Amino acid sequence: MAIEKRNRTKIVCTIGPASRSGETLARMIEAGMDVARLNLSHDTHAIHRKTFETIRSVDDSIPILFDIQGPKIRIGDMKKAVELQTGDSFTLSIKDFVGNRERASISHKDLPRDVKPGDVIAINDGIVRLRVKEIDDDEVRTEITHGGPISSRKGVNVPGIRLSCGVPTEKDLKDLDLAAELEPDLIAISFVVDENDVRRVNKILKSNGPKNVDVISKIEHTLAVKNYPAILEESHGVMIARGDLGIEVPIEEVPILQRDLIREANMWARAAIVATHMLESMIHEQMPTRAEVSDVAHAVFDRADAVMLSGETAIGHDPVGAIEMMKRVAGRAEKRITPIKPDDITSPKKLIVEVIGSLVYNTVALLPDKIGGVITATRSGFTARWISKFRPPTNIYAVTNDPAVVRRLRLWWGVYPVKYDQDIQSVDDLVMEAVCAAHERELISIDKDVVFTSGVRHIPGKTNVVGVFHVRDLVQLPKSRY
Ligand code: PEP
Repeated sequence: MAIEKRNRTKIVCTIGPASRSGETLARMIEAGMDVARLNLSHDTHAIHRKTFETIRSVDDSIPILFDIQGPKIRIGDMKKAVELQTGDSFTLSIKDFVGNRERASISHKDLPRDVKPGDVIAINDGIVRLRVKEIDDDEVRTEITHGGPISSRKGVNVPGIRLSCGVPTEKDLKDLDLAAELEPDLIAISFVVDENDVRRVNKILKSNGPKNVDVISKIEHTLAVKNYPAILEESHGVMIARGDLGIEVPIEEVPILQRDLIREANMWARAAIVATHMLESMIHEQMPTRAEVSDVAHAVFDRADAVMLSGETAIGHDPVGAIEMMKRVAGRAEKRITPIKPDDITSPKKLIVEVIGSLVYNTVALLPDKIGGVITATRSGFTARWISKFRPPTNIYAVTNDPAVVRRLRLWWGVYPVKYDQDIQSVDDLVMEAVCAAHERELISIDKDVVFTSGVRHIPGKTNVVGVFHVRDLVQLPKSRY
């Protein structure tokens, strides 16, 4: 899709049975998919491997995100779906058997050791709530405080409790082996509770690979909210995973948390993805509800980098239609984001890149008709991310020679990576070549000025140069002058 038709807010799409074919994926990319998410909680490695290869063969500039399951627990098989009644007793047992209205087996065999009397256990998306009464070696006996339906393999949450089956689980380790083999661009870790969870995964990635990968922590546990600043420090981005988060915390807290978590992620230039139920009704319907449209718009107003589609694209009847709708709504909303003064989004560390980001923002905001875009020459992607957090009202063209960085940067708000083959050291050459690269790809018109920023000698994480250049002056300059 032509860049001028793309949104600045990015769209993450979950790939599933409805969207695995090369033909559908090509149409999804054309419609506005920026990141393809493979949810490792479902399907076999063989299916993920094939989907991965299909995506790469359709468009190798699309980043692929592996979402690993983490310590998700479930009840076992049930004879049939049953309706649990408030006030009745219900037992969760670590033994394997087919469940009924009095008892069910549980996948987490240490549950009796992880909970204590008084703790709450939620089943089936938090609809059913149990209060722990008694515990022995094999069983947790509870009172049903909120009755409702349960059926085979429904998800179980234990709000606020750190389960002993932490990140990474045995399944996560197998999924990380697959990641080492296939080399996705982003890895999302589910049910992170603190920075040590992220560190453990980072350590595995460092020794086993993939090395060229960004880590996204899913915020869906009360403890992750509590430990958020330290988690952010260890992560490249976060996903506000509202499905499980809305079970862990009172549901009315979710929109407030969404806003606060995004704001802090923005401050530290970490990508913020808002996920779950965004256009849920489009799994079956042609049109979303007004409330869903409003939800997408408010995620954009909250300054999310990306909005995510789950079932809509994985199992929905029209994955392409859901992306088109998402693009329309986010595209309209992003034109009305309330500007934030650079000082108000600058971190307490007051990094040099933030001073530069603030200059970039002010230049673009003061001269909107003159400036055709921001160009960052970036090796690791650092400069582009930190400029993006200021939300300058123009595109950020991130010129880089690393194809993996090209892919990963697509997640960040307003960043359009431009692949460039050379590895240049001098600032003069860098400005010249980066601006020419953007102009040659028809991203910036010859009559505009550009704001250029980079790090001298391309030291990752050392942004120290900013300048304003007229494109014509550089494009028409004989290269021998440099
Ligand atoms: C969520 O809980 O909102 C989420 C995105 O995670 P998953 O899809 O893995 O349940």
